[in-house]
Amino acid sequence: MTDICSLSLTQVASELQARKIGVAETVNACLERIDTCEPQIGALITIARDEARSLAAKMDAQKPDPQRPLWGVPVIVKDALSTKNLRTTAASLILDNFVPFYDAHVVHKLREAGAIILAKANMDEFAMGSSTENSAFRKTRNPWNLEHVPGGSSGGSAAAVTAGECFAALGSDTGGSIRQPAAFCGCAGLKPTYGRVSRYGLFAFASSLDQVGPIARTVEDIALMLNVIGGHDPRDSTSAMEPMEDYAANLAAKSGDRPLAGTRIGLPSAFISNGLATEVRDVIVRAADLARDLGAEIIDITLPDPNIASATYYIVAMAEASSNLARYDGVRYGRRAPDIDTLDELYLQSRSQGFGNEVKRRIMLGSYVLSSGYYDAYFKKAAQTRRLIQMKYFEALGQCDLLLMPVAPVTAWKLGENEQDPLKTYLMDAYTLPVNLAGLPGLSIPAGMGAESSMPVGIQLVGKPFAESAILRCGHILEKALPPLGIPTGIRDIISGH
Ligand code: GLN
Repeated sequence: MTDICSLSLTQVASELQARKIGVAETVNACLERIDTCEPQIGALITIARDEARSLAAKMDAQKPDPQRPLWGVPVIVKDALSTKNLRTTAASLILDNFVPFYDAHVVHKLREAGAIILAKANMDEFAMGSSTENSAFRKTRNPWNLEHVPGGSSGGSAAAVTAGECFAALGSDTGGSIRQPAAFCGCAGLKPTYGRVSRYGLFAFASSLDQVGPIARTVEDIALMLNVIGGHDPRDSTSAMEPMEDYAANLAAKSGDRPLAGTRIGLPSAFISNGLATEVRDVIVRAADLARDLGAEIIDITLPDPNIASATYYIVAMAEASSNLARYDGVRYGRRAPDIDTLDELYLQSRSQGFGNEVKRRIMLGSYVLSSGYYDAYFKKAAQTRRLIQMKYFEALGQCDLLLMPVAPVTAWKLGENEQDPLKTYLMDAYTLPVNLAGLPGLSIPAGMGAESSMPVGIQLVGKPFAESAILRCGHILEKALPPLGIPTGIRDIISGH
């Protein structure tokens, strides 16, 4: 008998369509995996067990629908995405008891395509963090080694996919939160071009940077998910009119042993020679060599200093966060502090009790950089710098078809290791956040294991605006040529009862 949980999204979708496996059987396999792994992995906040089971039973009584590409497939979504009648917390105490009355656009799209929403994934509170240690509810562990973080902020989504609890998940990415946890967990993750995927129903962190995107076990699965969730949505004013492509069909590679012939890949050599852990650098250099062997032309390019991008990002992101989070006032949604006499005190107490330390830190810094005496020195300067960074990335992409970059300078660190040093964690996003500042698409794929840490290492492919097909095709070709990582060691131990 096949182990259902080890199938890819594409495989399980086609087996369900062919009725080789049942919907209830598939849902139960995932729920069983969740029961086995969750006590140790902790990837989830809320599990929609009964809803998933009853929907599965209903679907099994019907015929599969070939128009619905995810018919019967269990998926998990980050808890920053609104799900109708299903608790949605953004991993914050302030939304502890919040049950939305509407679906985010992407959740609606998933359901329309036939997917079953199995659970809501753990994350850093309001997507602020890089390790999922900032959740108000629990810390998620890395399926490769339970002593390590899964990355963040979409760490629950990446850990759930890696652990086989579902076939794909949605995350959100403001400065790396899809690509970095995907890299840390050894799966694939895509941050689409800004505007490709609707943000309607995504709890806003920094609206000019946020994008929703998929995390899955293969690039093919990522393409299938993008087909489903992408496209114009009139409810998001920044949603692009740019036509969609069939990203999955576009993966079909040229045959022969040089499928990347004619592809020019820009490699920022300064990023590779400085600031990376040796084990990360080795994997990236090997991936570039492999791309060359497969026919690609590798071009040396220059990109802005990643530290400047970090400083810029944290000013922009915190400013936007401080304004977006003003809506949580204890009156309209979620937690309200009890026994309060005045309105001011109600705001103060509800927010003091509801928000965690990282969120408070960002609200304070964000308010500071926007305040009248400091606006020009900080926010305005950062907005100008952002524009320059974007121009430099556009220039670089004028010389090549796509960029090959690191995802993170290190592999997944140990739980607690960086918790006391927020600045150190902020600097870990230096290779992902410029892609958000420039609004470009970025794909992270697993490229090998770190020789020292024995943890997965990812590489990042960055494309021109709306050129998702180009990075997905290149990622797909590289993925097929790279040695597969195999079963995550932590999950193997949990399943075999060690
Ligand atoms: N780690 C970054 C931050 O803390 C990015 C988070 C994200 O992409 N949501 O802001």
